[in-house]
Amino acid sequence: MSLLKTDRMLRRVSDLELAWLQERGIRGIVSDLDNTLAAWHGDEIPSEILAWLDAVKAARIGVCLCSNTRRPARLARIAQTLGIHHVPGNAGKPGRAGVLKALELLAVLPNEAVMIGDQLFTDMVAGNRVGLTTVLVNPLADKEFIGTKLISRNAEKLILRGERARPR
Ligand SMILES: [Mg+2]
Repeated sequence: MSLLKTDRMLRRVSDLELAWLQERGIRGIVSDLDNTLAAWHGDEIPSEILAWLDAVKAARIGVCLCSNTRRPARLARIAQTLGIHHVPGNAGKPGRAGVLKALELLAVLPNEAVMIGDQLFTDMVAGNRVGLTTVLVNPLADKEFIGTKLISRNAEKLILRGERARPR
């Protein structure tokens, strides 16, 4: 079960306090894209998340997108627009390779990085395998790849038993 552990469960990524990161010596954030920073397949990032990203960057904490995307051009475009790093192409979570590439791009060690995502079986497992601090957020939108919705979400519910952060 330890691969499924989460150090924090938050409603949104923007609820993650800079002080919490700094207290732990976190210098890099490896982040999922879809349903974590952006609504699934949309390019739009909620304004509170844009403001949070600005604050993170101002605190000199690097950010790298790590996405199991099927649209690598969209991923690269969003990363460029936000002024952050990205692991090119499909990151292959829960495999370790994408997370390791992200750490390399951020020039940080596993214990200096946090993995943020909305899915236990890809984001949290990938982060835990490489030894990152892990933060699970509630998915931004309901519209998801059908396989994710039907299989992973029901299994997540069984494991989390309603422990996700409450909607506000
Ligand atoms: Mg996601």
